Amino acid sequence: MTQADDPSRLIGADSQERSDNALRPSSLAEFIGQGNGRRNLETFIHAARDRGDAMDHSLLHGPPGLGKTTLAQIIAAELGVGFRATSGPVIARAGDLAALLTNLRPRDVLFIDEIHRLAPAVEEVLYPAMEDFQLDLIIGEGPSARSVRIDLPPFTLVGATTRSGLLTTPLRDRFGIQMRMQFYTPDELSLILTKQAIKLGLDLGADGAAEIAGRARGTPRVAGRLLRRVRDIAAVEAAGTVTAVVADAALHRLEVDANGLDQMDRRYLACLAESYAGGPVGVETLAAVLSEQRDVLEEVIEPYLMQTGLLMRTPRGRCLSVGGWAYLGMTPPASAAKQIDLLTQIAGDEADIE
Ligand code: ADP
Repeated sequence: MTQADDPSRLIGADSQERSDNALRPSSLAEFIGQGNGRRNLETFIHAARDRGDAMDHSLLHGPPGLGKTTLAQIIAAELGVGFRATSGPVIARAGDLAALLTNLRPRDVLFIDEIHRLAPAVEEVLYPAMEDFQLDLIIGEGPSARSVRIDLPPFTLVGATTRSGLLTTPLRDRFGIQMRMQFYTPDELSLILTKQAIKLGLDLGADGAAEIAGRARGTPRVAGRLLRRVRDIAAVEAAGTVTAVVADAALHRLEVDANGLDQMDRRYLACLAESYAGGPVGVETLAAVLSEQRDVLEEVIEPYLMQTGLLMRTPRGRCLSVGGWAYLGMTPPASAAKQIDLLTQIAGDEADIE
């Protein structure tokens, strides 16, 4: 079990949380945030629906918990078509994909989560399926092997990935629509929380929602999880309305600080500062020292630390920023201050390193 799906870690953003489903918005009108991306998607959905065509294949990328699965379901609902969901690592053989594709009805949405983890042999089969709605399969082995071509109904593939940098270029190029999911603003999260509280039958004050939103790492899944834990604590302590004071006390007990960082984030930052004088240090080393999987560091912990300006990801490794040192209440050693200057320049040049 990784830290990301460790239920004891409040801010992990695993995608398998059961209670997620009940809280998912089911239409675009209910889906909050993602500004332009959402508006464009709305246009593409309406255009495809009016034409009676399958919508173009769409790729949603961004950190876990930002609403990729939710959006995929909404796309199918708005198009008024069926929705089939699977995930990259689950499709082990080309035959598995063939079974999925041949069972689709015309214009259905097939959602493949973690699409960067598709096996190369499966990806090869996916190319003609996406482009020409045709399956090319080899049946049998050795001299008796023959290739068969099967026509597929037109369908929409919605792929989700936390690591678009790991996607092969031919696969990425076959998605006509690509949307990068952004972290949510505290106001957007407050709105999401208020709606979720209504679904949960919880009396959440506007200030309580704002308090939780500010500590939810810009991520709706984290906001929802914090809300459920705050609800438990408020219920046991008979707090009635969840105000900012109640929410703050509950989050304090859960060790989620005012910036939304938890113990794991603090361990990460402290390790960088204390063992490596602020870096730069490679992610593999950090993963080993923290006994954590590299993927979890890269996909769950680091994006938010970078977003809040505490951490820099540079070609030479991870490096604590001035803000990171300040957060820990420590003064960077002279060597680190020089590094930061240099690395800030490099990071500016190569902003998106995956
Ligand atoms: P991802 O697939 O990106 O990991 P999910 O789609 O599973 O994320 O979303 C996680 C949770 O966050 C869901 O329970 C969903 O209800 C909530 N959520 C995500 N985005 C939004 C949004 N824009 N508005 C309301 N709720 C959202």
